[in-house]
Amino acid sequence: MSTTTPADVWTAMLEGNRRFVAGEPRHPRQDAERRHELAHAQRPTAALFGCSDSRLAAEIIFDEGLGDLFVIRNAGQVVSDSVVGSLEYAVAVLNVPLIVVLGHDECGAVRAAIDSTAADAPALPANIWRQVAPIVPAVRRVLTAHEGATAHTVDAEEVGREHLRDTVAGILRSSELISEAVAEGRVAIVGANYRLADGTAIPDVVVGDVA
Ligand SMILES: [Zn+2]
Repeated sequence: MSTTTPADVWTAMLEGNRRFVAGEPRHPRQDAERRHELAHAQRPTAALFGCSDSRLAAEIIFDEGLGDLFVIRNAGQVVSDSVVGSLEYAVAVLNVPLIVVLGHDECGAVRAAIDSTAADAPALPANIWRQVAPIVPAVRRVLTAHEGATAHTVDAEEVGREHLRDTVAGILRSSELISEAVAEGRVAIVGANYRLADGTAIPDVVVGDVA
């Protein structure tokens, strides 16, 4: 059973991110001793569901170590059955008190979803389209909110933030197990946007208590 609170875990992750941003990472818990210690059991402190983007390397940007994060990633951090199943495993079996959902600026999946709404958009390969289609509602909302905006002029970062909120809402809607854990205060969810140039993870939506 985890004895740490969602707030403890998120505070530690923010501290790790600050070290990474400052160029002073400690690379904690990455030695042979830690590897041996974990050989037969893991006790990660958080689950992280983020975009697959190669620049969003979870343990590096939060200066975490082996066995610290239970990581699920796909292009554009799009909710699916396999994502929900993995997150439920992290909550119900590994007892993580925190789920971090991580989007980012300059996201290729968000860009592809935006571009797909242009009148002259070429069709995407079917499986890529299936992956980015769930981002399109966020694109449409931002286009509707800004009169005259088009696929060429819309603010991709605003779309990314909307999609991040959709992702958090989608996890809660898809999983009774997780929404109950949140309602009982055992788990919190933080949706954060990672800024590629600065290396900062900026929280945007919080469900539960991480203060
Ligand atoms: Zn991305």
